[in-house]
Amino acid sequence: MLHDEDPIVAIATANGRGAIGIVRLSGDRLEPLIQAICGRTLEPRRATHGPFLDADGSAIDQGLAIHFPAPHSYTGESVLELQAHGGPVVLQLLLARCLAAAADVEPTTGKPRLPRLRIARPGEFTERAFLNDKLDLAQAEAVGDLIDASTEAAARSATRALAGAFSDEVNALRDRLVDLRMLVEATLDFPDEEIDFLERAGALQRLAAARGQLARVLARARQGALLRDGMRVVLAGQPNVGKSSLLNALAGAELAIVTDVPGTTRDKVAETIQIEGVPIHVVDTAGLRESSDTVERIGIARSWEAVEDADAIVFLHDLTRLGHADYAAGDAAIAARLAEGRADAARVLHVFNKADAAPAVETARGLSISAASGEGLAELRQALLERAGWQAAPEGVFIARARHVHALQRTAAHLDAAAQHASAGDRALELLAEELRLAHDALGEITGAFSADDLLGVIFAGFCIGK
Ligand code: GDP
Ligand code: ZN
Repeated sequence: MLHDEDPIVAIATANGRGAIGIVRLSGDRLEPLIQAICGRTLEPRRATHGPFLDADGSAIDQGLAIHFPAPHSYTGESVLELQAHGGPVVLQLLLARCLAAAADVEPTTGKPRLPRLRIARPGEFTERAFLNDKLDLAQAEAVGDLIDASTEAAARSATRALAGAFSDEVNALRDRLVDLRMLVEATLDFPDEEIDFLERAGALQRLAAARGQLARVLARARQGALLRDGMRVVLAGQPNVGKSSLLNALAGAELAIVTDVPGTTRDKVAETIQIEGVPIHVVDTAGLRESSDTVERIGIARSWEAVEDADAIVFLHDLTRLGHADYAAGDAAIAARLAEGRADAARVLHVFNKADAAPAVETARGLSISAASGEGLAELRQALLERAGWQAAPEGVFIARARHVHALQRTAAHLDAAAQHASAGDRALELLAEELRLAHDALGEITGAFSADDLLGVIFAGFCIGK
């Protein structure tokens, strides 16, 4: 069982120095602790300025304290927020003071003030909010996605999901499935009349309508997952074809919030840029060539791994050197290597650079661009978005995860099976009912109506501590 009733405490603000830092507690009954630390009772949901008291009555810091008595709080339990100065030492002192004050016996009762107060696990505040029905699972995930958002579009779509835009669509779909299930299960009880009954109720049409609605939600969830996870692009090509120049040109065109891709090494240059708000994780392979130098070979091996994982490979050529024999041999070697791996032709985009200095190639061979002048870059961006499956930014995109897309796909598969049973000559009603039940379950995984504890563990472990 993931959930326990222990009160929890954590520093809720980011590590490092800041104007304000927050220590947050959540638990059943916080009054004795509030009394010990703030030296008074707090009016609910009202910021009160005052000292945070150490055991000897001296002030650790001065700041604002806010008490949110249950159930009107983020977690649904009572929550105390101590807003102190945002230094790592003062916040650690305050955290330690909370733990000590909780373990201390209260003079009046002779018992510890808040037995079992402990440091929160990552995401545990949000997990409690979910378990106490303050948020559903898709909304709780949106909290993490908002914090981790790498582009403005991703942040705005996470806010939409947090407000319930995605959950509302899933719940509307669920309501349709519940109606259908009730209809089919009621029919099961009257076997003689079942055909008539289902026909009169328009069960098939209702099933088709639910399937259509699901397809629309799935399409939007795919867009949302793309906004969250982005697209992986590898820039391949010989030295001096203009890979670094292209990366800079793409990054500079739209004001990108450039972040490092975790886990990348110095030997491959990786950057996240954005195109229409879609994060594009680009790895510059810095010359995929044969080498006898060990260190260089390790770097090149890593670059090839990136090629295997990429959603698209931009194979960059140099228009000014196309005719040269050495150059052609170098390109042929890269092409052969790309053909060996998972780099099927469909993922490779041939792009010819330096169109400002040499004639372009026929469009059938690939895209001619100039990293220097910017010519052709708009077309390249569109080609990449197309490959990613991005449809011109619909305003209301909500953020979603691969997990949600998979659950919707399974729901769709069960609805398709249900439709087959419903239209089968023998009207396999039990099977129809069973497929509808499975569709309902798969859909419920998105909002957490049906979720295993281990799934919850994985989801909340991805959060930061204090959230
Ligand atoms: P990389 O080794 O593939 O990363 O290539 P670089 O980006 O370092 O570029 C190699 C050389 O080509 C540099 O001198 C660039 O200024 C030049 N270059 C890059 N893009 C263009 C372009 O579009 N037109 C022209 N004329 N030169 C370019
Ligand atoms: Zn380079």
